Amino acid sequence: MVRFEVYITDKLYSEADVAFGDQLETAVFKLVGDEGIGMVMTAFLPTSYEPKKYLHWAYEYLEVGDEVRIKLAKTDSAETTQITDHTEPENEEAESTLFCSLCGKGNLEVLKIICGEKGNICDECIELCYSMIENEKNE
Ligand SMILES: [Zn+2]
Repeated sequence: MVRFEVYITDKLYSEADVAFGDQLETAVFKLVGDEGIGMVMTAFLPTSYEPKKYLHWAYEYLEVGDEVRIKLAKTDSAETTQITDHTEPENEEAESTLFCSLCGKGNLEVLKIICGEKGNICDECIELCYSMIENEKNE
């Protein structure tokens, strides 16, 4: 097993114990429709008996100037892969950053919000609009 510690600037973000044969990935990304720049850790477990099993830690937002550091902390004989989170629980109560211009729901309340130049629309409103148009066609 190998233990990795991931730091954002000087704060320990997460640590992962990775068994031999498993794989840890730390990625930095920008999602369409999301204001922030995120970072995520995912451990792939090809040695697990369940196919395609993976462990995943929800992402943390990065700010300009943040440094991401991955430290090889130690190696020993532990046998399971696990990721331990050290971020504050404020992540649990994430707030919507995008809102539907028609119904006002936020991106965390709906499946998808599509952004236009002058407004946004959510999947629920699209479905409603679509059925209204279909009804009109059938009359
Ligand atoms: Zn809507």
